[in-house]
Amino acid sequence: MFTLQAERAIFGSFFNPDLIVSPGMKKFFMAKNSGSLPNLKGLSLNLGSIKKKLPFDPKREYDAVVIGGGTGGLSFVQEARELGLSVVMFNHVNPTPKLGYKWGLGGTCVNVGCVPKKLFHNAGLIKESIHMAHDYGWDVELKDDKIKWETLRTNVQNHIKGINFSYVSKMKEIGVDYIEAKASINESQNVVFDFDDTQYELKAKNIIIATGGRPRYLPNIEGADFKFEDECITSDDLFALDKSPGKTLVVGGGYIALECAGFLKELGNDVIMINRSSFLRVFDQTIAGKILENMVGGNLKAFGKTTITNITKEDEDQYLVDLLIDGEPKKAKVNSILLAIGRDPNTHVVENSGVKINPRSFKVEGRVEEPERTCVDQIYALGDILEGVPELMPVAQKSGTLLAHRIYHRNKGELTEKEILKKYSMDYSNIATTVFSNVEYSYVGLNEEEAIEKYGEDNIEIYHREVTPLEASIYSENSRTAYMKLIVERNETEKVIGIHYLGPSAGEVINGFGLAMKLGITKKDIDNTIGIHPTVGEDFFNLTVTKRSGKDYIKTDCCS
Ligand code: FAD
Repeated sequence: MFTLQAERAIFGSFFNPDLIVSPGMKKFFMAKNSGSLPNLKGLSLNLGSIKKKLPFDPKREYDAVVIGGGTGGLSFVQEARELGLSVVMFNHVNPTPKLGYKWGLGGTCVNVGCVPKKLFHNAGLIKESIHMAHDYGWDVELKDDKIKWETLRTNVQNHIKGINFSYVSKMKEIGVDYIEAKASINESQNVVFDFDDTQYELKAKNIIIATGGRPRYLPNIEGADFKFEDECITSDDLFALDKSPGKTLVVGGGYIALECAGFLKELGNDVIMINRSSFLRVFDQTIAGKILENMVGGNLKAFGKTTITNITKEDEDQYLVDLLIDGEPKKAKVNSILLAIGRDPNTHVVENSGVKINPRSFKVEGRVEEPERTCVDQIYALGDILEGVPELMPVAQKSGTLLAHRIYHRNKGELTEKEILKKYSMDYSNIATTVFSNVEYSYVGLNEEEAIEKYGEDNIEIYHREVTPLEASIYSENSRTAYMKLIVERNETEKVIGIHYLGPSAGEVINGFGLAMKLGITKKDIDNTIGIHPTVGEDFFNLTVTKRSGKDYIKTDCCS
C-alpha cells in the first residue's frame, strides 16, 4: 500500500541532500530521474527499504553528546540547554531476557525503579490503612486480601507512559536532539551508533556517559536445564507483569530485594526471601534486624545463608526449587522467581574508548579532584555507571546539573579551573537515603558499625528511642513501632555523625536531617530544636538514653 507518509518520504528524499532511501533505491531514482519527480508507473515499491531520517545532522560537532536518557543524562541536557550548549542525547533500552519488556525515555528511576516501586509500596500501605480504618470507626472492610494486580499495574504503567511522553516533548521544546539508538565510544573517542541499518560516527567536544545499570542474573547451575535468564524475572519486569507473580521466591539481600518482597507480601502474595548471607548487610545491623522482624511472618518467610542447588520447571508458572538452607536441603514450590542480587553497570559503551574501568565493579573510574571526569579529558560519566558514588536518583540528578555548569564554564574560559571546581563540584558526602520496606527506614551519615570502625567504640555515643506512632495507638492489631538512633562523637562537641529513623514516612522525615548533617550539626543543636507535636520525628529532639547506659529506651508516655 502506498500511503501518504511513504509518498512524502520518497518524494521528500529527492529534494533532501541527506537522501534517506537505501543505496539500491537511491541509485535507481538518481539514474531515472536526476532531480525531477520520479516516474512511479510500474514501480514495485518495497516499503521495507525506505529509511527513517536521522533527526539531526551527524556532521555537526555538538558541545556535548550524551549517551543514556535516565536521570543523569536528562538532568545534564536540561541544564546544558539552559546554558546554551548544543546537545544530542541517545537512549536505548535492551529488552528484558524473559519477557522482552522495554520502556521509554526516563531511565531506571521512572520506568523500573523509584517511581513504580514507591507506588507499589504505597498500595501496601493503603491496605494497612484500610485495616486500621475499622478501629477509627469507618465502615470499611477489605473483601479480598489480594490486590487487583491488573488495575495497579495498568495505572502505574499509564503514569509512567505519561512521564515518558513528557520527557520526549520536553527534549523537543528545549532543543535537545534526541534519538532512540544504542551508542558507544570508539578508539578515536568519537560516538558511534546504528540507525536504521546504517552506522554513523559523531564527533563531540564532550561526551557524557550516563548509561546506568541493569539487574544481574545468577550464573546457570552446572549440568541443569534451567536457565536463569530464560525463566527468572527481575525488577525490570515486575511492575509491568500482566498478572500477579503469585507465590514468589525473592533471591537477594539488598534493599531492592527487601522492598520487592515487602510489597509483594502486602499485595497478597506468598513470599519466600532467600540470600546467601544475611539481609541488608551494608545497613545498620540493629535496624536491619528490626526491619526483618517486622517483615517476616504471615505470608513471608526469610532464610539467610541459603543457596539454590537446582530448579525444575514443572509447569508454565510453577517451579520446584531445591534449596540449601544453612546446610540443610529443602524444597519450595513457587510461581515466580525474582532475582534481586545486584546490578551490572552498562559499561559496554566505553569498552574501546580508553576510559578506565574499575576491575572489580566494572564501573567507570573518575578522577580524585573531579569524580565525573574520566582519564580521557573530554569524556565524563554520571550516575550509577560511575565508580564510588551512591546509586541514587538524586545523586545522578545533582551531578548532571553541576557537570553542565563545569562544561559550560570550560567552554567559556572566563573562570580558572580551580574556580570552576570550587563552584560546581558535586559533594557526595552525607547523602540521605530511604529503604521503602514495610516499615520505612531512612538514614544519613554513618551506621553504628561504620562509626565504631572509624572512631572506635569508646569514642562514639549512641542515643536511641523507640516510640509508638500516635496514629497506630488506637489500632488493635498494631505491632509497629518507630525507632530512632543518633550517633555522635563522644566528646565535648558531640558532633552528629549518623541519624537513623525507622518508622512512618521515613523518607519525608530524613530530608531535613540531610540538610542538618551538611551543616555539621551537634547534639546540642538538636537538643535546642523544638519539634512538632504530635509527630514521631519530634522524639529526635528529646533523646536522652544512650545505648551504652543500657537503660530502657522505649517511650511509654505521650505528652511530657
Ligand atoms: P539510568 O536511569 O539507569 O539511565 C540510563 C539510561 O541509559 C537507560 O535508559 C538505559 O537504557 C540507557 N542506555 C544504556 N546503554 C545505552 C547505550 N549504549 N546507548 C544509549 N542508551 C543506553 N534511587 C533512589 O534515589 N530512590 C529510590 O527509591 C530508588 N529505588 C530504586 C528501585 C529499583 C528497583 C531500582 C532498580 C533502582 C532504584 N533507585 C532508587 C536507583 C535509581 O533508579 C538510579 O540510581 C538512577 O536511576 C540512576 O540514574 P542514571 O542516569 O545513572 O541511570
